Amino acid sequence: MPKRLVDRIRSIMPGSGKKKSPVYQRREIPRDQHNVSRSMISEAAKKVLHRLNKSGYEAYLVGGGVRDVLLGGKPKDFDIATNATPEEVHDLFRNSRLIGRRFRIVHVVFGREIIEVTTFRGNAGQTDDAADADDRKTSEHGLLLRDNVYGSMEEDALRRDFTVNALYYCIRDFTVIDFANGVDDLNNRQLRLIGDPETRYREDPVRMLRAIRFAGKLGFDIEPATEAPIKELAPLLTHIPAARLFDEVLKLFSAGHGEATYDLLTQYNLLAPLFPETVKALEAGEPDDLIRKALRNTDARIAQGKSVTPYFLFAAMLWPALQAEWRRRQDNGDPVQPALHGAIGKVIGRQVQATSIPKRFSGPMKEIWELQMRLPRRQGKRAFTTMSHPRFRAAYDFLLVREDAGEIEPGLGKWWTEFQKGDERHQERMLSQLGSEGPKKRRRRRKPVKRPVQ
Ligand code: ATP
Ligand code: MG
Repeated sequence: MPKRLVDRIRSIMPGSGKKKSPVYQRREIPRDQHNVSRSMISEAAKKVLHRLNKSGYEAYLVGGGVRDVLLGGKPKDFDIATNATPEEVHDLFRNSRLIGRRFRIVHVVFGREIIEVTTFRGNAGQTDDAADADDRKTSEHGLLLRDNVYGSMEEDALRRDFTVNALYYCIRDFTVIDFANGVDDLNNRQLRLIGDPETRYREDPVRMLRAIRFAGKLGFDIEPATEAPIKELAPLLTHIPAARLFDEVLKLFSAGHGEATYDLLTQYNLLAPLFPETVKALEAGEPDDLIRKALRNTDARIAQGKSVTPYFLFAAMLWPALQAEWRRRQDNGDPVQPALHGAIGKVIGRQVQATSIPKRFSGPMKEIWELQMRLPRRQGKRAFTTMSHPRFRAAYDFLLVREDAGEIEPGLGKWWTEFQKGDERHQERMLSQLGSEGPKKRRRRRKPVKRPVQ
């Protein structure tokens, strides 16, 4: 057998060379033995599958779309794998666009729904072939730098991450095609990486986060061999581009199981590469009650079909780090306000090295934090000015979470709740009551402003 093929088989086969693992075999599950019903597949996905099939190509639904339908859930999106090249797919669909430079995929666009079509990709391991090696480079850490070789359907299956993500559904004869015992793992609610776990995590450390995400979202166990290397390999995530990790953080916390996911991330040492400053602060004794309460809130919102704003999530995840830095600066003699601004700058500056935070989110996040200082100061016109701030609602929600977490005395949140509901007269009354009970105004060394006599 040529050396290249031997290497390839060795790298594809799970645990080959090291431990004894099952050898994968293609299995077809006929329509009467599985519960995929076509009604659960979006019309758009079906259209793409049919058109590709009619044009003489192989095309299958794959990944989360098949997995979630088999589990009786509603897939987030539908991915299709085909033997048509991206250009051929693009030619077939006017409503499509080619994405990516080296490995091109096709997005077929139906209004707000996007069907992602990828050509079968091959080569689930490293080879010593010069041409392939160039297209499938790995770094010194085993990180897969490029992944752009077309392959057979079987190769396409074995380069996927988990066995339950490597199931294909054929719309022609309604069979499910399983190359890696994914159906068995699905029935046993197990997440199992295809191939040797350590190699697969080294190729792409994001797979560790995906393991946690699917475990949290699907309530699956992570199979022991798949689980074993995570704690040790977790620091490899620091080699992943910050922008990709930002996307992964959003996915981790917007699947509706944020608190469980947070616990799993902590348990597997995966929180540190994502939120290094937060983990440092927590280790130094800062409480994480606010993070937990915020994630619980987020989960409840998602359960009600509401959306979650990334800036609220990041404001909460970084709050312990901000608190620690803010206090440190005040202990060093900085006044409250400059200490806060300095702390905000530093915490964000450090965080963007880990996950990046697009400006459209870091701005509002800062405002939520800054408004926490303004919310207690309500005298005069201040309450009205604060309430008209575009980020007031988010800052008020954040205040409620802080109270709920026992970080501040209860009362202020209730005051704001009442103030927002009240009519003008009620609001004036609330403010005048504050005048006598509220904290004394500090004298300012500023010219007195002349106010019109009423
Ligand atoms: P969901 O869409 O619900 O988050 P998914 O399994 O569909 O879950 P996607 O990120 O949409 O996840 O990816 C689609 C498919 O692509 C996966 O099911 C898997 O087969 C493959 N895949 C995605 N990311 C990786 C990866 N890092 N390594 C290997 N295969 C991957
Ligand atoms: Mg998907």
